[in-house]
This record gives sequence, structure tokens and C-alpha cells, in this order.
Amino acid sequence: MMDLMLSLQDEFDTSYIFISHDLSNARYFSAHGGGKIGVMYLGELVEVGPAEDMINDPKHPYTNVLRWATPDLALRETGDPPMRKIDVPDPVDPPSGCRFHTRCPKATEACRRETPSGYQHGEQTVACFREDEDHEYWDSPELTD
Ligand code: SF4
Repeated sequence: MMDLMLSLQDEFDTSYIFISHDLSNARYFSAHGGGKIGVMYLGELVEVGPAEDMINDPKHPYTNVLRWATPDLALRETGDPPMRKIDVPDPVDPPSGCRFHTRCPKATEACRRETPSGYQHGEQTVACFREDEDHEYWDSPELTD
């Protein structure tokens, strides 16, 4: 199906927004269609960049979870996902601040209060305070609840 879509892209010189829960599919489609991967969490883009950068060097902790969860990438180094909690928050009433803070293994108190904007890291755009070395995140206590 993806190859058919890619051949139609060539034939009609068109563009796609291809939505998948599988990072391997996104990688294949991006590589052959000339696009980028955008990772969404609870309705917000958290990281955008070239496929190989996103897969080999993800900057956002949630992109790292997706990479862990993709068997084809053979990157599962441990049996546990790189998250604090498995439970998905209610998307109708999302968490304050960074929406990933309730599950993020790197979260601090600053993440609960403030929403990160997009920081540029090479060709990747990343919505995480860890990309800003001057942010109060670095002096804020780690979240444990
Ligand atoms: S801003 Fe904080 S909670 Fe959000 S992804 Fe970055 S470290 Fe995790």
C-alpha cells in the first residue's frame, strides 16, 4: 500500500501527510517520499526532523519511547519502556505544562508548570526544555509522582 501511494506521488506530483503508529512505516515512507517525521503526543507535535536523525538520535523523550516500542528497529535494550508511567492521560483534559510530564522519565517541576516551545537542534525541532541549557528546568527538582 505504501509503495502504491509513493508511485501515485510520483505520477501526480502530490504530497501526503502519512499518519502511522509504527515508526518503521514512517521511516520507510519518509525515506522514499522525501519527507520528514513529526511525532505527536496528545495532539501536539513534540519533535520534527529527518527520519534517520529521529530514529538514530531522538531528542524528545517520547520519540525515544516510540523507538523503543518499534520491534523492527531492534533497539529494546531492556524489558521496560523508558517511561515513568504507562497510563495515558485523558486527551480531553491533558496535563498542565508539558503534556508528557506525567510519564516522562526526565521530568522536573518546571515541566509541570510551563509548556515547552520548539527548540532547534540541527535539523530537528524539539519541544523539550532539555534543549535549552539556560532553562530553569535544570535547577528544578525531579518529578517523582
Ligand atoms: S519538557 Fe520536561 S516533561 Fe516534557 S519532554 Fe522535556 S523533560 Fe520531559
